[in-house]
Amino acid sequence: METIFSKIMAREIPADIVYEDEHVLAFKDIAPQAPVHVLVIPKKYIHNVLTLEESDTELAGQILLACSKVAQLMGIEEGGARIVFNCGTDGGQAVPHLHAHVLGGRKLGWPPG
Ligand code: AMP
Repeated sequence: METIFSKIMAREIPADIVYEDEHVLAFKDIAPQAPVHVLVIPKKYIHNVLTLEESDTELAGQILLACSKVAQLMGIEEGGARIVFNCGTDGGQAVPHLHAHVLGGRKLGWPPG
């Protein structure tokens, strides 16, 4: 499925990449909602968390571990972070490729809008 994120993975459009491994790519959000706002995406196409399958179990863990690595790389692991997976229409998902938002660097409000 071609999305803006597949184009970033293919290096067809630029992104500020902060972490990459065999399974995931992480890059700064173009419209940051906090001092640190990084998106972590699997290289494999998955629509969102709600469409994960049993066979994605290991990859799901790799995505979470990558979020933790990104928090460390961005220096927010001590202050804390919010890691969000927007899913579908009601969840406010705009880009139909699974992604984690890793947000931090300020105190975040709750509940979300
Ligand atoms: P969501 O609403 O959960 O689907 O989040 C999609 C996110 O992708 C938003 O926070 C956008 O700001 C971000 N975004 C859209 N286009 C780009 C881009 N070219 N580079 C980086 N982030 C992007």
